[in-house]
Amino acid sequence: MDHIQIAIDGPSGAGKSTVSKAIAKAMGIVYVDTGALYRTVGYYAREQGIAVNNAVAVVPYLDHIKIDVKYENGVQCVYLNGENLGDRIRQNEISMYASAVSAVPEVRAFLLDTQKKIAAENPVIMDGRDIGTVILPNAQVKIFLTASNEARARRRCIELVEKGMPVSYEEILADMNRRDEADRTRAVAPAVPADDAVIFDNSDMDFDTSVSGLLKLIKNTAAEKGIVLS
Ligand code: C5P
Repeated sequence: MDHIQIAIDGPSGAGKSTVSKAIAKAMGIVYVDTGALYRTVGYYAREQGIAVNNAVAVVPYLDHIKIDVKYENGVQCVYLNGENLGDRIRQNEISMYASAVSAVPEVRAFLLDTQKKIAAENPVIMDGRDIGTVILPNAQVKIFLTASNEARARRRCIELVEKGMPVSYEEILADMNRRDEADRTRAVAPAVPADDAVIFDNSDMDFDTSVSGLLKLIKNTAAEKGIVLS
């Protein structure tokens, strides 16, 4: 591998996407949000009228799903059968669908190549739940980003309010805990740190402190491994 691969895993609301975007910009590399792919399959499942507790019913439909990831003005856009879903995949209900379909092995296999291909072709910082363990086991830098449940629920609330999808803190906290528990304990690709990941808890950090701390960690790790960052 001749370019950098940075894996950022961790539970929801730890700030993976916002800090990863800032790091990608600072380093001039591509940010890949893999949760968006599971959200897209979850969105499709809901459109088909599949119940969230029967996610396996999406499997026969996978042949009808075409997912394309494009970068438009530096922003990742995910197309479902030619349609850019934009922020529709961010709704809280879709988070639950994403988590449900992500526990189905056929769904994970379906999304594997798309993720590996982007990382093979570009220097990346990729965020998700199984990046360091399954998707990019040879990533030079692996970070497991986490924060307290309360800090994560608070941030998720702010994010959804900013997107014009307000939800109550209590609802988010309960849904997030349920989703994280399911992600952590599932049989395939559980959301756990890779053995060689660095755990980074940013509960008490603001955004800038979190980004500068992670950038320092990435640069130090790269230097230790003799990787030249441009
Ligand atoms: O990161 P985000 O909250 O958008 O992810 C939505 C859901 O997709 C997660 O709760 C998780 O169940 C699933 N996911 C996954 N593996 C990834 C990324 C996301 O299972 N690499």
